[in-house]
Amino acid sequence: MKAEIISIGTELLLGELVDTNSPHIARELPALGIDVYNISISGDNQARLAATIKQAYERSDVVITTGGLGPTEDDLTREAIASVVGEEPYVDDALADHLRGFFASRGYEMPERNLKQAWLLPSGRAIPNPRGTAPGWWVEKAGKHIISMPGPPTEMERMWDHEVRPRLAEISTDSVIISRTIKTIGIGEGTVDEMISPLSKSSNPSIGVYAKNDGIHVRVTAKAPTERDAWLLIEPVEAELNKILGTAVWGRDDDTLASAVGVMLEDRGLKLAVMESCTGGLLANTMADAPGSSEYFVGGIVSYATQVKIDSGVDGELILEHGVVSEQVARAMARAVSERLGSDIGVGITGVAGPAEQEGKPVGTVHIGLWDGQGESGLSYQFNQGRDAVKARAVTMALMLVRRHLLGEMDPMRRTG
Ligand code: ATP
Repeated sequence: MKAEIISIGTELLLGELVDTNSPHIARELPALGIDVYNISISGDNQARLAATIKQAYERSDVVITTGGLGPTEDDLTREAIASVVGEEPYVDDALADHLRGFFASRGYEMPERNLKQAWLLPSGRAIPNPRGTAPGWWVEKAGKHIISMPGPPTEMERMWDHEVRPRLAEISTDSVIISRTIKTIGIGEGTVDEMISPLSKSSNPSIGVYAKNDGIHVRVTAKAPTERDAWLLIEPVEAELNKILGTAVWGRDDDTLASAVGVMLEDRGLKLAVMESCTGGLLANTMADAPGSSEYFVGGIVSYATQVKIDSGVDGELILEHGVVSEQVARAMARAVSERLGSDIGVGITGVAGPAEQEGKPVGTVHIGLWDGQGESGLSYQFNQGRDAVKARAVTMALMLVRRHLLGEMDPMRRTG
């Protein structure tokens, strides 16, 4: 089956809004055995929107749209679809009652213009939307499907997960494509490629190596008649990759490095605290993003100004001696925050995020320290990218340091008691 996705909204065309709906849907279609041939963006102009939908309808089996289902005059998706399939919309009484009830439950009378959200076409049905007022539309005509979902991602995602994806899985009869991503850190792209070369000649599953912000990812992709058959192809290759890559593997698919480190901390019953300078709290925020992080994350101090570092327990003499951007200070920050906040492990980050150099040290210089109650370690590196990239990279490197520490992989030469 061939599918096409259309994101609707003039904001998208003007670059004021980034389309996240179509990538969300496109990512999931291969697993349903549906090939995505085109993704497009259309503004809120009825004639142009209808032309885009018509072209998609003519050349694809499934057309999926998001946006333009609101009650206002520039929400024209329904009108455009009606003109493409040559049908007249009518007000569905049950939908209209449901909408009035929705408004009444919030203490309002339904504005008349919302009535168009109760429209249906003779070849269509409504798709429930418990997160908003706009039901979706599923129009089925001449063996083809036009599926329209609301623009707001929370409404669209719920409708996709509960209503659209399961039904498409029933309709689709083609081979499915399933991928498993194995995530590694601490070894370079070329090394990973070389290590897995005995496996990389396989064509089903096929294997790809990708450099990402959180390390090197290896993606194993299989095509098979059913999801189960695809997993049977993937599983032995995944087991072999895990064996070859060993402790460099930290997670898979949607795992984040912070949650992987969090699981390791929790398993060992250890608590982490952080003191951050150039990352301005990004490491603490990243730790707190993982659900359940209160089990192992104590908190953090954002010691942006030098005086805050001193007030938080870093020796002022040490700062004078080595400069605030130094591995010695990063290590002292780690120890100070661990003692201040009462954690088993402390991490300190200091560096130059840019745009200007600091203390004669170039932009992108980052030092990270770790203290575990007995000894300290650290790492330093230079990463000459934009400010956001330097901060993000520092967080990844800090998580990698904690992970290596927990795995007992820290270089003993750098440990001092
Ligand atoms: P509503 O009933 O809220 O008006 P709608 O179906 O008419 O829903 P739009 O008016 O097109 O949707 O978009 C509403 C909001 O949803 C946009 O302002 C934007 O915040 C978000 N949105 C719409 N389309 C997308 C998209 N493709 N990617 C990300 N966000 C989107």
